[in-house]
Amino acid sequence: MKLTEHFTLNEFTRSTTASRLKIDNRVPDELIANIQLTAIKLELVRIALGKPIVINSGYRCPALNARVGGVSTSAHTKGLAVDFYCSYGTPKQICQRLIDAGVQFDKLIQEHNQWVHIGFSPSNNRQIVLTAVKQGGKTVYVNGLV
Ligand SMILES: [Zn+2]
Repeated sequence: MKLTEHFTLNEFTRSTTASRLKIDNRVPDELIANIQLTAIKLELVRIALGKPIVINSGYRCPALNARVGGVSTSAHTKGLAVDFYCSYGTPKQICQRLIDAGVQFDKLIQEHNQWVHIGFSPSNNRQIVLTAVKQGGKTVYVNGLV
């Protein structure tokens, strides 16, 4: 199912972890509108970066989210966040570009300099920018891009 010009529903639901563990990661009907909103916002991300983006993790049903260590309140479980890669540059460069381009988001996270998490809100995008780093074996989130 095509959501927008460049994004399909399958890109939001495919998960190697879900396949391996036979977790049913289909999106419930009541969350389709959120996924649609996220796809529309991602088109703006794509324009800002000038390159295709590859969704690494989009929607996560509660079982999948728990399995990958996501917090239970994760925007992924609401269909309002994705983790992605883009050949534009490093995760830090991608985040900086999105900020400079004035892209609206609720939360933007540079994750361990490996990928970018971006989350959206249907009502109030807070423009929160964080960097995930390991401290003493635990992931902590520090303000801004570091
Ligand atoms: Zn994420």
